[in-house]
Amino acid sequence: MTRVPPDAEARRAVPPVICYPNETLPQPDMALYRGALAGALPMASVMAAPRDACHFRVSAGQFFRIRSVEGPQVGDLNLWNADDLSERFYSGKTRALHGTHVSTGERLWSSFPHLRPMATIVEDTLDWYGIDAFGGSVHDVIGTRCDPYTGNLLSGSQYHHCCHSNLTRALADATGLPLRQAEAHVHDVLNVFMCTGFTRNTGQYFMKASPVRPGDALTFFAEIDLLGALSACPGGDCSSEHSSDTAACFPLEVEILAPAEGALAGWQPPARNGYDRSHGR
Ligand SMILES: [Zn+2]
Repeated sequence: MTRVPPDAEARRAVPPVICYPNETLPQPDMALYRGALAGALPMASVMAAPRDACHFRVSAGQFFRIRSVEGPQVGDLNLWNADDLSERFYSGKTRALHGTHVSTGERLWSSFPHLRPMATIVEDTLDWYGIDAFGGSVHDVIGTRCDPYTGNLLSGSQYHHCCHSNLTRALADATGLPLRQAEAHVHDVLNVFMCTGFTRNTGQYFMKASPVRPGDALTFFAEIDLLGALSACPGGDCSSEHSSDTAACFPLEVEILAPAEGALAGWQPPARNGYDRSHGR
């Protein structure tokens, strides 16, 4: 049995310090992006079918909008540099920089050694939700993605329409890679529209019914040329369970929008990270 030290309460009372104060992060020019979005026109749209994923390409300087249609539905998003799959969305570092959930003005950062913004959130119709009494909020970067391996570990199942598998098939379709190779590029997601948090008493990851309704949307500015894949999670609105065919599921739309000529005058895609990679040698 561990002995509680006499100054236990004093140690617990030490105030927290933010790990990564983000005031020095390069700030997106939101006025420029908003102006460009106001005059942008839809170019294309694809639909992720329920319990399946779609893929899409969006050029640097364009927008993509993930929209709820038909019914409440959560989406699992993966992003890659369209020309280099090794540069992909880094959920953990995005969490470290912005917090557990992301909204307007925050960015999706790419993996090492690139570590630059891949996309910036320019509109979020669920930004009214805030943080609820359970500590829950929407659009998290704390979950991983539902996957058949964890399902197998916990219940011995063989379920093939978890977001991990949906994203694997979508990337294989987009690139022509065999499934096993495509799978290696699938990564932790942005949980679009999902409402999640950690329980205060046990620290466990929780989900609850998403507040999303048809017409709600999350809109991104593409900072670099992107290949994206979006899975309409088998959990539906994630109010009860995932990794099965039990929940009511709905499609999700991804719309690509192009700004008017000249609307981004002076804007340039972000450079790769400036660390020299010598690692002390
Ligand atoms: Zn899922």
